[in-house]
Amino acid sequence: MKPLEQLVRKNIWNLAPYSSARNEYSGHAAHVFLDANENPYNKPLNRYPDPLQEDVKARLATVKGVGADHIFLGNGSDEAIDLCYRIFCNPQVDNVVAIEPTYGMYQVCADINDVEYRRVLLDSHFQITADKLLVACDDHTKLIWICSPNNPTGNDINRQEIERVLQRFEGIVVVDEAYSDFSAAKPFRTEIAKYPNLIVLNTMSKAWGCAAIRLGMAFASKDIIGLFNKVKYPYNINYLTQQKALDMLADPYAVDQWVRILLAERTQLANAFSELPCCIGVYPTDANFFLAKVTDAQAIYDYLVREGIIVRNRTKVSLCGNCLRITVGTKNENNELLGALRKYSGV
Ligand SMILES: *Cc1c(COP(=O)(O)O)cnc(C)c1O
Repeated sequence: MKPLEQLVRKNIWNLAPYSSARNEYSGHAAHVFLDANENPYNKPLNRYPDPLQEDVKARLATVKGVGADHIFLGNGSDEAIDLCYRIFCNPQVDNVVAIEPTYGMYQVCADINDVEYRRVLLDSHFQITADKLLVACDDHTKLIWICSPNNPTGNDINRQEIERVLQRFEGIVVVDEAYSDFSAAKPFRTEIAKYPNLIVLNTMSKAWGCAAIRLGMAFASKDIIGLFNKVKYPYNINYLTQQKALDMLADPYAVDQWVRILLAERTQLANAFSELPCCIGVYPTDANFFLAKVTDAQAIYDYLVREGIIVRNRTKVSLCGNCLRITVGTKNENNELLGALRKYSGV
């Protein structure tokens, strides 16, 4: 890895972050707060939330097995994705490399930040080699994006190839593990001590059933987390979200139960789906969704919309011609989907 100072934009490296009222008194046991121009009434909503979310991070550290000072919390993983560009990539100068197809936000944030986005096509098994990714890099490549399990293909990316990228790439490797709770693969978040150039993304939006509260996280070295904290909005995670996250984290067992049920449902749904006359094939998956090739993705998508059932039409995505992405729902929802598609095929 290059020295971090060489990878970070000069203006960010030199940035003096905003110092909020709550930052400035350091840890004394205060009880009268006349520093932040808050209203003294309407407790507890009158107070600014903890800018570093220390209670949430303390719980997360236990649940995720990562030190609290190696965690950044964002307004969804999407905030962490955007911050990666704002921290590391000089607009119009630097570039990033990503697998293709993958999660759309990496490209959207590249475009917003005016950073060149280089795609490296997966093979027919939706896999990639480190060599192919590294060949696409040059001196201005700051980030490599790897999503595993990958969206929309659903599969884990070969671990050995990810490790090769981590060992050989001089810049930052972001491994997005939004779906890792559904995968049997060992998560990369526990490898941050081994790889100083690794950033791992997780989210409360999928297995944790909390897409509404907007809480995503990045795990990385303390130095990289320090950069995230410097650039983020001071109060990026609101009080209500922090409270709800604490409630959820108090009972991680509930999440394990959901995951177990969804994995069993996934097997049943994928098997039944693959038997449908309109199905050409279901791709292997390590997530709470699967990609399926069908006879006519647009016609089937339109038909399902008329039936009040929404799936994701991925037919225009590279390597995904005539593919639908199906999220695993409840047993009733999955059966409704299967029933509608049997009716579509006239069986
Ligand atoms: C759903 C998803 C996320 C989650 O984004 P949030 O902003 O945390 O809701 C992140 N990465 C991938 C690949 C996803 O599919």
